[in-house]
Amino acid sequence: MARIVMKFGGTSVADLDCIRNVAQRVKKETANNNQVVVFVSAMAGTTDQLVKWVEQISPLNDAREYDMVVSSGEQITAGLLALALQDSGVPARSWLGWQIPFKTNKMHGAARIDKIGTDEITKRLEEGTVCVIAGFQGISDDNRITTLGRGGTDTSAVALAAALNADRCDIYTDVEGVYTADPRIVPKAQKLDKITYEEMLELASLGAKILQTRSVAMAMSHKVRVQVLSSFTNKPGTMVVDEDEIVEKQIVSGITYAKDEAKVTLVGVHNTPGIASEVFILLADGNINVDMIIQNETQDGKKTDLTFTVAEKDLGKAQNILKSATNIHHEAIITDKNVAKISVIGVGMRSHAGVAASMFKTLADKRINIQVISTSEIKISVLIDAEYTELAVRALHTTYGLDAQ
Ligand code: ADP
Ligand code: ASP
Ligand code: MG
Repeated sequence: MARIVMKFGGTSVADLDCIRNVAQRVKKETANNNQVVVFVSAMAGTTDQLVKWVEQISPLNDAREYDMVVSSGEQITAGLLALALQDSGVPARSWLGWQIPFKTNKMHGAARIDKIGTDEITKRLEEGTVCVIAGFQGISDDNRITTLGRGGTDTSAVALAAALNADRCDIYTDVEGVYTADPRIVPKAQKLDKITYEEMLELASLGAKILQTRSVAMAMSHKVRVQVLSSFTNKPGTMVVDEDEIVEKQIVSGITYAKDEAKVTLVGVHNTPGIASEVFILLADGNINVDMIIQNETQDGKKTDLTFTVAEKDLGKAQNILKSATNIHHEAIITDKNVAKISVIGVGMRSHAGVAASMFKTLADKRINIQVISTSEIKISVLIDAEYTELAVRALHTTYGLDAQ
């Protein structure tokens, strides 16, 4: 007997037929005598609609009430799945996050899980009940509902899998696993049988929406065996594993893109020690994360252009902060939302030279200009004009030999 956590994303519970399909998959696991916890997302499109309503009703943006509204989609699917399971003869009950409880901090909209109660779930599992839990939500010390950030049901599932010491955490979605690139824009993308935690972490944080970044970090630190697979086919998915479980290491395992960043250039900043620290401290104080950074001195060294990227949603706030900072002397602030970050990722990069060179050559051959570059041990990212996103991702996919035959 194994203890399994299953998670079904929005498209897997998009309507009643999909929910019945999920119930049959869960039933199969119970028929194998496994203890099963199921996490569900809201029906596809529901959370987007809830977010829109919040934005339309008030510009005040009270994040506590935002969480109250956007957490509601998961309540519907959890209840419906419990009913569908009961209907097919499987003892099941549903819970909301606060009933477990998933205790979180107070960062509404992007809360972090502090502690999870496991007593009741453990008892129910031992009695043979399937525990269906609404994903994406928790409760703060102030007794208010919190949400874990978009895509947060992945994190709910992995966190409980860690707390229950589950044998597996299966993330069911609308594609057959983790691919070498988003299969929606790269038709020749290939499904990976295995991917390392580290690569998955980079893929997720650099734009592949398939798993929420935080869920991967949690799986990595608690050694949760995560599998990503389709709820619409019966094929094996992708296992997220330790590096030593992968015999043949690819130089590049995946290519990602992210269109949700904006570029800011402070032109003609006085080139004195401490200026960069001043700029970035101000932004950090405003809770704005800066991602890619370059600085270019003028030839006489007196001035410098400072270019960096921030999340597009933070652009207005970043501009206001910089405009009101009277001690940072600069000639102009130029911003550009029309940019995309393209990244190539692979643990094999550690031991292979020339990966960056072939990336730059591929983009040059397509006449795509590189605006900013950043690297880490296992990834290279470049910022380009968003218009060339698909072209760049597909060309790089070919360059690194990732295309399916
Ligand atoms: P769910 O609603 O099941 O959580 P998501 O939409 O969050 O599903 O994630 C699945 C989507 O992630 C896929 O439909 C696919 O378009 C996208 N995706 C982006 N990059 C990748 C990748 N490298 N491999 C697989 N899917 C990817
Ligand atoms: N329903 C939430 C969202 O759309 C959480 C999730 O699906 O994981 O972001
Ligand atoms: Mg998701």
